[in-house]
Amino acid sequence: MTDAPSTSHPEIREAVRKLCAGFPGEYWRALDRDRTYPTEFVRTLTEAGFLSVLIPEAYGGSGLGLSAATAVLEEIHRSGCNGGACHAQMYTMGTILKHGSEAQKQRYLPRIASGEIRLQAFGVTEPTAGTDTTRISTFARREGDKYVVNGQKIWISRAEHSDLMVLLCRTTPRESAARPSDGMSVLLVDMRQAVGAGLTIRPIRTMLNHATTELFFDNLEVPVENLVGEEGKGFKYILDGMNAERILIAAECIGDGRFFIDRSSAYARERSVFGRSIGENQGVQFPIARNYVQLTAAALAVEHAAALFEEGKPCGTEANMAKMLASEASWAAADTCIQTHGGFGFAEEYDVERKFRETRLYQVAPISTNLILSHVGTHVLGMPKSF
Ligand SMILES: Cc1cc2nc3c(=O)[nH]c(=O)nc-3n(C[C@H](O)[C@H](O)[C@H](O)COP(=O)(O)OP(=O)(O)OC[C@H]3O[C@@H](n4cnc5c(N)ncnc54)[C@H](O)[C@@H]3O)c2cc1C
Repeated sequence: MTDAPSTSHPEIREAVRKLCAGFPGEYWRALDRDRTYPTEFVRTLTEAGFLSVLIPEAYGGSGLGLSAATAVLEEIHRSGCNGGACHAQMYTMGTILKHGSEAQKQRYLPRIASGEIRLQAFGVTEPTAGTDTTRISTFARREGDKYVVNGQKIWISRAEHSDLMVLLCRTTPRESAARPSDGMSVLLVDMRQAVGAGLTIRPIRTMLNHATTELFFDNLEVPVENLVGEEGKGFKYILDGMNAERILIAAECIGDGRFFIDRSSAYARERSVFGRSIGENQGVQFPIARNYVQLTAAALAVEHAAALFEEGKPCGTEANMAKMLASEASWAAADTCIQTHGGFGFAEEYDVERKFRETRLYQVAPISTNLILSHVGTHVLGMPKSF
């Protein structure tokens, strides 16, 4: 195993590694083949308390900082497992914690912490709006003590495995709002009541096992008490949660990268061709060493962003940069890993091709690399915006 430059939270890391040892490659391969949800893995993680590390102790969680959560996700991914099935349970509750009423916090957070209810669905993306979130058109019309929701969302992951969803929708049409980012609101949708009563979920089969779906709202009724914060301020609330999401996804990429480098270097040492280990050839060895250098730098960027977040300092740029560096480093390591394994890189039983498919997602979601570069180009470097 390659040494991690970060030794933060060693007990958490050790405990997560032990837990993940119970979920070896064959477990994930079987799920991947059938595109089924890792129910047992998610249940075990929940019971061990790893998904509630960010929930304050007063609401039943362990009240730890973001770096503890990055340690959990990094180790899950380094072990060959995948946190994508449940990582949102860690941070989506942040919208309620930061912007919800005390009654909402009391009602939901302790039950999310115990695992009694799952809040792992986060509904923002729409087919026609794409990355331009101000163009979303799913609309919640106020009628007395309820909102009536109509519209469509796409790529909403884990919707079939979640009891609650944080939903961003318009409550004022874009044309009537003072600014394009005004007039959007966050509603908590109780999926158990909504499905079949105005909400239809259609799974989308993708190149990886990610339980992602398309949602159709047809006069779905949501009680007004499920509005989070103030009406019309939802875009800001969602943006607030994005730094945590980006840093945590970046930690998953670091874990993936370590998985690939562990596998590549082990195989390069063991595989003998032309009477010597393939790792003796610098054409094989140097790309793996380069991956390690890149990943180490990316891990430091993730650590830095997490530290700023924990200190309550602005970290939008750092979170974006960490996510970009980590996703590119993990993808480079994935490519090297396939190459190092030759034909065996393509064999399911090595788990390399599965992880290769899984880690590719992170250059597109939750935010694509171009949009990160645009943020840096315009917000940091003061160049003109293209949109
Ligand atoms: C498996 C999966 C799971 C997901 N889970 C969720 C989820 O749970 N909840 C949720 O709300 N969303 C989810 N998403 C959506 C995800 O966040 C988006 O796919 C992502 O943000 C990119 O948006 P888009 O697909 O609409 O791409 P588009 O906005 O259509 O962009 C397409 C391409 O064009 C580029 N591009 C667009 N505009 C510009 C520009 N001005 N300059 C340069 N390049 C540009 C983008 O970088 C991108 O590469 C998921 C997506 C996937 C694939």
